[in-house]
Amino acid sequence: MDVIVVGGGAAGIMAAVTAAENGKNVTLIEQNDRLGKKLFLTGKGRCNITNACPVEELFDNIATNPKFMYSAFYGFDNHATIDFFRQCSLAVKTERGGRVFPVSDHSSDVIKVLRKKLDSLGVRILFGTKLTDIKTVKCGEKNKISGVIAKKDKKMIEIPADAVILATGGRSYPSTGSDGAALSLLQGCGIRIKTQEPSLVPFTCDDKLITDMQGLSLKNVGVTVYAGNREVFSGFGEMLFTHFGLSGPLILSASAYVKEKDYRSGVRVIIDLKSALSVDELDERVLRDFKENQNRNFANSLGRLLPSKMITAVIERSSIDPEKKVNLITKQERQRLVNLLKCFEIDVNGNRGFDEAIITRGGVDVSMIDPSTMECKVIKGLYFAGEMIDVDALTGGFNLQIAWSTGRLAGDSIKEE
Ligand SMILES: Cc1cc2nc3c(=O)[nH]c(=O)nc-3n(C[C@H](O)[C@H](O)[C@H](O)COP(=O)(O)OP(=O)(O)OC[C@H]3O[C@@H](n4cnc5c(N)ncnc54)[C@H](O)[C@@H]3O)c2cc1C
Repeated sequence: MDVIVVGGGAAGIMAAVTAAENGKNVTLIEQNDRLGKKLFLTGKGRCNITNACPVEELFDNIATNPKFMYSAFYGFDNHATIDFFRQCSLAVKTERGGRVFPVSDHSSDVIKVLRKKLDSLGVRILFGTKLTDIKTVKCGEKNKISGVIAKKDKKMIEIPADAVILATGGRSYPSTGSDGAALSLLQGCGIRIKTQEPSLVPFTCDDKLITDMQGLSLKNVGVTVYAGNREVFSGFGEMLFTHFGLSGPLILSASAYVKEKDYRSGVRVIIDLKSALSVDELDERVLRDFKENQNRNFANSLGRLLPSKMITAVIERSSIDPEKKVNLITKQERQRLVNLLKCFEIDVNGNRGFDEAIITRGGVDVSMIDPSTMECKVIKGLYFAGEMIDVDALTGGFNLQIAWSTGRLAGDSIKEE
């Protein structure tokens, strides 16, 4: 059987390896001149391959369509991924939060072992080859795949195939080759596509008081995000102020739950700056600080309570005169300060878009795909894998696990008629 895999990223490589292991004659098409351009960037160049959590916890980390992943995860889970790489002679280690990395800390080593595996299985790789269309023939009620049309060296070529696995990725970091263009040609074939949006992406805001705090990193804070009046995210961890707004792990996770339409109804980030203390405990703490600083100006009394880059913003938001002597601050003013520290609110007006998004939300509608095989429900012999499917996850190695698991399942599901 001739199988074409389109996309030389994590999902496409895993699909090609699996189909070749099953004795298929596999051709991998990649528009770049090398494999894994995005894989190379992952985990800040270290590649967080997967997460070593119990398999059930994988589902908790999927933000969109976790149920769709049931067969793919149970067929080839995170522990199978770790075994796979070990068998490819890649030593791996587990770090904080279950994150799994190559011991070498080089994503290039992940790509190297995958390339070696493809070569050892005799997979033919066509670089500089861009899929431009898929070919189908009528097969009873349905259409059946018969091959692809691609552009190579400015020429159009037609490659016949018995099965095609599409693994062309999302739209984030388009410079890596994942530009979403392949999805538009699917729409013409009656395949529903969910609008693609940036996810795991920093937030922007135009409040100078906030952008002036650039470079400030807050650890152990609580963050709650509202879209209009609806709470869409609540978490605890680390965040960062930047010249454009907000970033850091907690903010990226929050962005997975904020849709583009939400920005129109208003998105608010509420930071609990003292999440370890209740309102009453914090009030006592502030009172203590005020007693020690009673003859100082309010502006000079917050050094122990707040990082210096935050003091100006907190003073301004508190509406307490910065020159006021601490012993003259009223109970009402103190309570206003305490509430501000527990609920520091920031209006968000958008995100940094696909250029800075770690992943893409949306893509091929899961109702178009058989979750037990990854085969398209309307075109026989056409399969999908990886980020091009409308499934996305939080950070921690879960997005690559989606790519490995769906790639494995697609490659395994191709059967002779
Ligand atoms: C900066 C960054 C860091 C990340 N870090 C991590 C991490 O540490 N851990 C983690 O789990 N996830 C991480 N991710 C997410 C993860 O990289 C992706 O979810 C994953 O790589 C998706 O794999 P894929 O194979 O589906 O798509 P891709 O890796 O995007 O591969 C798709 C391939 O298809 C090719 N292609 C597209 N269209 C065509 C066409 N028409 N013809 C031919 N070829 C085509 C592209 O050139 C590309 O090579 C990170 C993402 C980014 C951007």
